[in-house]
Amino acid sequence: MSGTSGIEGKVIAITGASSGIGEATAIHLAARGARLVLGARREERLNAVVAAIAAQGGTATGVVVDVTRREDLRRLTDTAVDRYGRLDVLVSNAGTMAVSPFDDLRQDDWDAMVATHITGLLNGIGAALPVFRRQRAGHFVNVGSTAAYVVKSPQAVYAATKTAVKVITEGLRQESGPDLRVTLVSPGFTNTEGVGKGGSPEAAEALARQRDEIAMPPSAIASAIGYAVEQPEGVDVSEIVVRPTVQA
Ligand code: NDP
Repeated sequence: MSGTSGIEGKVIAITGASSGIGEATAIHLAARGARLVLGARREERLNAVVAAIAAQGGTATGVVVDVTRREDLRRLTDTAVDRYGRLDVLVSNAGTMAVSPFDDLRQDDWDAMVATHITGLLNGIGAALPVFRRQRAGHFVNVGSTAAYVVKSPQAVYAATKTAVKVITEGLRQESGPDLRVTLVSPGFTNTEGVGKGGSPEAAEALARQRDEIAMPPSAIASAIGYAVEQPEGVDVSEIVVRPTVQA
């Protein structure tokens, strides 16, 4: 079935589904009967997630996707429509937390965060919006960060790009009209391999240490996303912020 409420039967595409929050979200939604199209760059990791879902009796397809490439997002949404006849939800989750102080001049990392979080999100909107308009139904779920609410050094570029995610999501919501739903889910510290990955060694180490002390499991975000998706038609959960209780 492809109802517009609940999770069962919904066709849901998720970017950044090869690990962490995306993987946990895929597993959460698959267990509740969603049909999934999962995108990320690491094919082996993606295949492992697809296989784990299939082993539990769920339905998932993997598509190798780099969100910074427009045509890759189109391939992700086309796969949903070709295989399952529709696309109900796009979860734009792919991200990179390559944080560092400005003086380190890690400009490739700055570019990657801009490309992944801003261009990547826009590529998802460009691919899914026409499908949603045609269907007169659809749901954008965009993964932001508490970094967009509280800026901490040395996370300025990361925080700026996540602030862009927040702003784009709110603007999209205002333009979405009565048929579409738009949700921002902003996680605080979550226990994933991505925390600080690719950043300066000092920043990565500090973040990993903090993660190991205070982070919540990625299932906390998966269930927040599930909550937004399972609402009845006409109910839009616009924004959810989820933090570990100990996070300032
Ligand atoms: P992970 O590193 O585990 O997950 C990131 C995912 O994004 C991976 O699946 C990665 O897969 C994918 N990805 C990265 N770049 C690209 C790209 N260019 N194209 C396609 N996929 C890409 O970390 P998290 O699960 O923690 O991160 C998920 C999201 O949650 C991110 O947007 C992050 O900013 C956000 N977040 C995380 C927090 C945390 O504390 N963990 C806190 C707040 C927000 P692959 O490398 O295979 O492409």
